Amino acid sequence: MEAFRRLRVVNKTLLCSLNPLSPARWRAGQKVFRFSTSPEKRKSQNSMLRHLASKIIATGPIPVAEYMREALTNPVQGYYVRNDMLGPDGDFITSPEISQIFGELVGIWCVSEWMGAGSPSQLQLVEFGPGRGSLANDILRVFNQLKSALGRTAVSVHLVEVSPMLSAVQAQSLTGDQSQVSPSEDEPVYRRSTTVTGLPISWYRQLEDVPRGFSIYLAHEFFDALPIHKFQRTAQGWREVMVDVDPEHSDKLRFVIVPSPTLASTTLIQADEKREHVEVCPEGGVIVQNLANRIAEDGGAALIADYGHNGTKTDTFRGFKGHQLHEVLASPGSADLTADVDFSYLRRMAGKAVGCLGPVSQRDFLRNMGIDTRMQVLLRNCADPSTRKQLLRSYDLLTNPKQMGERFQFLCLLGRGRLEQPKKFEGLKMEKKSPAPLPVAGFTKLSFS
Ligand code: SAH
Repeated sequence: MEAFRRLRVVNKTLLCSLNPLSPARWRAGQKVFRFSTSPEKRKSQNSMLRHLASKIIATGPIPVAEYMREALTNPVQGYYVRNDMLGPDGDFITSPEISQIFGELVGIWCVSEWMGAGSPSQLQLVEFGPGRGSLANDILRVFNQLKSALGRTAVSVHLVEVSPMLSAVQAQSLTGDQSQVSPSEDEPVYRRSTTVTGLPISWYRQLEDVPRGFSIYLAHEFFDALPIHKFQRTAQGWREVMVDVDPEHSDKLRFVIVPSPTLASTTLIQADEKREHVEVCPEGGVIVQNLANRIAEDGGAALIADYGHNGTKTDTFRGFKGHQLHEVLASPGSADLTADVDFSYLRRMAGKAVGCLGPVSQRDFLRNMGIDTRMQVLLRNCADPSTRKQLLRSYDLLTNPKQMGERFQFLCLLGRGRLEQPKKFEGLKMEKKSPAPLPVAGFTKLSFS
């Protein structure tokens, strides 16, 4: 109970010390990614289709994972890599873009986990796929407002971003674009700068390039963008679903079930699998394994937030364009492609070196983090009816089970020591107990009264 009380005090103090929200900073209803159908864009879409079709004609059907990787992150024409996809109208909207409260609460989570780990002298904030940089921006504002809590801690920011174009948008938002871009393609750090709040910030293409050390890792709507393999149970056993050129229409792609087992179909399916159709994201699994090893060796925590399931769903591969569902095999490179994250798989891949909590729903996470208290403060300080309406609308979008409240899930990875009950000091005349570990914010129900 003492530990609960301490976390409540920590969170309440952190929440109350945040500045009130300024109406101008309110981003409710903004959209993230833009897709325009300029002639140039259409040409690029066609060339992506041609590129994939000629590959398939030369070597045979390709795994869905290869299709997804090419469509999203092909270095020239990938959806995330092209430079004209950002703007006020987009293909989908994410929680950090809906409300800055989201990032503020995640910022408090970071500080709370840093405290839970004993307030180490170094703190790396590592974010995967930061999009427009909004989440990092809101977190860094919280760090800046909690300077006194962070004391002399050496805080640095590390962004893992595959898209050079989006990295430029992030740099603009986080540094005012003072960033230096590495002239060499081989440099692990391809961009570096100082944030507007005075912290060193660097950009990498992959986790392996991020320096080791105590880190808080964040991945918001990142794992759903990683390539999945698809498998179908057949009378002959598990077979991989692949992407082929439609023999009737050479400008169209179609799904096929390949007749023989593939390396993926023989290695990625669990022996006791009950479903008829399964999606597996091995790239996500490898990243989680690496995160688990880093956390076990260097300390830290990871927070993975995405829409997903616990190993129960089957066909979740979807395309989105202009906030509408989009046929996944149509005009590759023009739409966002995504698959629900299988959190049971991520937990399995994290292994025994770390502790996992969750997944919990976004609604529970945000409420446990004190979103209701924060809303009360903001509403109390806000007289403008339209801003109040926006505040309430964003709150509803984030927490209502029919909106993003239930579909979005939060999983965290922690060093094992973080969750263990403290050991008694043996051999002493009087048994002395160290304090219970601080409960993990967001994953524990707390009252803020
Ligand atoms: N986290 C942001 C953006 C989500 S969109 C938000 O919630 O608003 C997915 C992000 O991941 C984009 O920034 C995209 O460029 C990046 N991304 C996608 N695949 C990636 C990969 N394989 N490696 C690194 N970044 C990737």
